Amino acid sequence: MDNKRIIIAIDGHSSCGKSTFAKTIAARLGYIFIDTGAMYRAVTLYALEHGAIRSGIADEDMIVSMLDDIDIQFRFNSERGASDIYVNGDLVECKIRTIEVSNCVSAVSSIGEVRRRLVALQQHMGQKRGIVMDGRDIGTVVFPDAELKIYMTADAMVRAERRYKELTAKGDKVTLEEIYENVVSRDKADMTRAISPLRKADDALVLDNSTMSVEEQMAWFMERYEEIIKR
Ligand code: C5P
Repeated sequence: MDNKRIIIAIDGHSSCGKSTFAKTIAARLGYIFIDTGAMYRAVTLYALEHGAIRSGIADEDMIVSMLDDIDIQFRFNSERGASDIYVNGDLVECKIRTIEVSNCVSAVSSIGEVRRRLVALQQHMGQKRGIVMDGRDIGTVVFPDAELKIYMTADAMVRAERRYKELTAKGDKVTLEEIYENVVSRDKADMTRAISPLRKADDALVLDNSTMSVEEQMAWFMERYEEIIKR
């Protein structure tokens, strides 16, 4: 039954290429791709711009009180072959990827009410299935019934180097050391937070892509996908 549309949940560590992988899968299958990290980053950006995070300290009550004012939308960008994220009508795709946002996002994503709102939005987006969603809690909390769950990881230095190349190519002034610090501290914060910590779902398949190209990852994926779709 090749017209069976499923949910593909991709979770894992920071900067291990989840979004690139998820985007490639979505393009191949004609599915919708949702980067849930972008949603937590968008709330973080809004909080930074509206004084709810000062000197790296997040004011939880203030952030929760702002949630009704934050309208998050994804709009497909055919040049990128993926959706761009908009907050209250403004394109924020670039602004949410800075090291400043990366350094504050784990504090924001650990707030229960922020998670409750974003998870509800994500579940709504996946109602019709035919979706690839990447994040930290997709296979465990957002779609525990996803037909295919993948838990991605890679060596922390390999991940830092990849992110460093991406950011410096865009002209961002960052050092490899600060990126490495950020990757390691975000992993720790995401795995130890009280609400919906990052963990491998019992039924998730592990993909360590430290030494794999995107093509190799896709070949790995297509084998698993074909098996599941035949069931
Ligand atoms: O995927 P990305 O690295 O852009 O995610 C940014 C941050 O958003 C993560 O470090 C994590 O704190 C948070 N996040 C989350 N749950 C998700 C997706 C992202 O807590 N489903």
